[in-house]
Amino acid sequence: MNAIELLNDMRRVQESISVKRVRRKNESRDDYIKRKAKYRCSYCHKVYNKKDLHTSLEPFHVVKKSENLRFVLNHYRIDEKTLLKLNPGLKLSSVKTGTLVMVPDSYKIFPNTHGVCYCEKCKIKRYSLELDHVSFTRLLVKKRRKIRDQITNSLRKKILQRDNYKCAYCEIEFDGKKNNSKLTVDHMKPIARGGNNEEKNLCTSCEFHNNEKDSLTYEEYVPKIKERKLLRENGVTF
Ligand SMILES: [Zn+2]
Ligand SMILES: [Zn+2]
Repeated sequence: MNAIELLNDMRRVQESISVKRVRRKNESRDDYIKRKAKYRCSYCHKVYNKKDLHTSLEPFHVVKKSENLRFVLNHYRIDEKTLLKLNPGLKLSSVKTGTLVMVPDSYKIFPNTHGVCYCEKCKIKRYSLELDHVSFTRLLVKKRRKIRDQITNSLRKKILQRDNYKCAYCEIEFDGKKNNSKLTVDHMKPIARGGNNEEKNLCTSCEFHNNEKDSLTYEEYVPKIKERKLLRENGVTF
């Protein structure tokens, strides 16, 4: 690999690591939303060509760290009753970081809404169910959690044993030298992407790699960590 190839690789990796959240000059809102989503469908998490994605502005709030319901109510100047009317399934006691909350769209201005990016297939599905973004996302999460919860403790143990209690990704990225965070069972093809709980779709992964891999497939993620390893070996620090 020559210097230019290495530099291009470095740029590609850095681009994929840092999400540029600032809207570029002359960039349409549509293009900005798609780029911010890394050209990934919010619902099925697949990467698409720019032209095959749709966007819309949806009024919702993602509860951030150290925020609570009181914050959401104050921020949007609504009372509990209004919020519950908008979020029928919401249990006030279970509002935690990452919870999606529907908020009123009375102002129809940007700060109240977020750009959502999705593929044609998911668009059809969502609209046929007549669901808003938050309800549809909740439905998907519920379905996926149900599958994930079917992994029994004995299956988990079996997978860890099979893999000699080593993270598959640490083995690739660190030659197995760094492996001290909590071990989890990873879906090589994520449930969101149609993966299941078959043993051949499961592998041992440390928490760090499992979180970072997110909704990527094994085949998509491995080149990324190999690139990072290569850059590190060439003295590029992150
Ligand atoms: Zn989709
Ligand atoms: Zn690992």
